[in-house]
Amino acid sequence: MKTLQGIGVSRGIAIGRVHRLAPSELDIRQFQIERKDVLHEVARLNNAFSLVRAELDALRDGVAADAPGEVRAFLDLHRMILDDSMLCDAPRDLVRQKLINAEWALTIQLEQVCRQFESIDDEYFRSRSEDVRQVVERVLKALAGGEAGTLPKLPALRKPEGEAADRVVLVARDLAPADMLHLKDRAGLDLAGFVTELGGATSHTAILARSLGVPAVLGLADVRSAVEEGDLVIVDADEGRLIVQPDAAELDSYRQRVKAAAEARAELRKLKGKIARTRDGIAIELLANIELPGDAREALEAGADGIGLFRTEFLFMNRDRLPDEDEQYEAYAKVARAMKGKPVVIRTLDIGADKVLNEVARDSLGIAAGAPTVESNPALGLRAIRYCLAYPELFLTQLRAILRASSVGTVRILVPMLAHVHEIDSALSFVARAKEQLKERKHKFDARVPVGGMIEVPAAALSLPAFVKRLKFLSIGTNDLIQYTLAIDRADSSVSHLYDHLHPAVLQLISRTIKTGEKSRLPVSVCGEMAGETEVTELLLGLGLKQFSMHPSQILAVKQRVLATSRRSAIQLASRVMRAADPMEIRKALERSAARADSQRAS
Ligand code: PEP
Ligand code: MG
Repeated sequence: MKTLQGIGVSRGIAIGRVHRLAPSELDIRQFQIERKDVLHEVARLNNAFSLVRAELDALRDGVAADAPGEVRAFLDLHRMILDDSMLCDAPRDLVRQKLINAEWALTIQLEQVCRQFESIDDEYFRSRSEDVRQVVERVLKALAGGEAGTLPKLPALRKPEGEAADRVVLVARDLAPADMLHLKDRAGLDLAGFVTELGGATSHTAILARSLGVPAVLGLADVRSAVEEGDLVIVDADEGRLIVQPDAAELDSYRQRVKAAAEARAELRKLKGKIARTRDGIAIELLANIELPGDAREALEAGADGIGLFRTEFLFMNRDRLPDEDEQYEAYAKVARAMKGKPVVIRTLDIGADKVLNEVARDSLGIAAGAPTVESNPALGLRAIRYCLAYPELFLTQLRAILRASSVGTVRILVPMLAHVHEIDSALSFVARAKEQLKERKHKFDARVPVGGMIEVPAAALSLPAFVKRLKFLSIGTNDLIQYTLAIDRADSSVSHLYDHLHPAVLQLISRTIKTGEKSRLPVSVCGEMAGETEVTELLLGLGLKQFSMHPSQILAVKQRVLATSRRSAIQLASRVMRAADPMEIRKALERSAARADSQRAS
């Protein structure tokens, strides 16, 4: 038995037999050509690009309707890389100018593009060079005469005597998202998990593994030489570990964990149709956060009481032409219809900080050419409502689209990142103007669509009396509230250990917002990640929260906590916590209380 340590990028445990994917290193021929052969080499390049294009399109068309939004996003990204002139035009020029063969030209250009990516001082951009390599490898395969995405044939794995399990753990140098999709859907292949030598936590391979729920460990250097074809292995994605040829005791303990996790999931599924009520009968609304219209299906499947946060900026990102009013209306109306009268809270554009528009899209807003895409301190810069007020046409177009969608469902408008009362007043006057425009254009809408505000800047949580006078509901964005209260850039891994939702200052601001909302009879929800963390469910209930909005995958786990909690004991816990000064002390109190609830549930 041996244990290798890498980076666990998704959750869960997979037990299976190794199948090593053949290394994708290709024999890349490099030679000079004669001028008369230029046309031929350029045609080979064109054909190879067309083959890969067709293959990525076919993969995209084949993505299941209920697949997570990221799946399509990755294929789109690879398609975009493929069409970038740096990759598809520049090698043709190199063939013509340097009289070299197609493969050589393509690899020269690949190294040049990757060097540019890798020199950017940002982990996300650095890891995008992996995507470029994966795309170019497909083109090289096509040039070598193979079908672009041809994967190695999987031999029938030997099934040891008496072993029922023949699930497969793929071991590869790297695995492109498109390959992962191919493999996941391959008939007869029961994919348990995978491990790779390359890749890190922010690689697309990692993100896709998370959204498909496949246990994966990346960054295991030399793993291909550490395992044999058919070896029994355990992928422990929770701990980032690969255990090769485990001994009987280890295998047994992991099998128990897999069984316990499956039982826990089955228990949760039983809660789907149940109403979320505390033990003493307080009804709690569990809502879903979504990013794209297609995510509404996952929300419904998880039994969500509505959409508590539709992050609309994802409709605007990764594209050159901004969505017009009709396209936005279709997207919002699709969600409103799908939710069949359940509330749908649509947040106005929260662009800025780590969510930026493409250069071309920015041009269409009249942003000066050469203006920096990322300001020096973007989280404190032109973001969210500030951005919308700076580009009135952008804001009005979105408001008209949202208002129109209110004619087909129960729609609410949520304004992000408010800090000043005058921002609320301006936003409300934009809503009034959008309504006037719709009336003139004879479009239907619900004239009483409620407008609410996000409480995610400490200034907002400290100005509540003026806010509640103007708004119809509040939604606490804890992700940003923590970032701005503790002065921690939420995207900076070097300070992530200081990002603590149990900091007493954060809890004070949350508590104050819930209490003020209650007094003013204004609904208050939490829509940051905290709402989906079962560690704090009881505390939030004790602070008086009645609406939780979270990623759909968390809804049933939070419901289980709600059902196990009584409001009375939650209030006692909250008052103990609010007296504590130290997050460690708070954490211990929460753990003790959760353990009590678990033992009550078990008995
Ligand atoms: C938040 O800040 O908590 C929030 C829900 O918004 P986002 O994560 O999109 O900034
Ligand atoms: Mg936010």
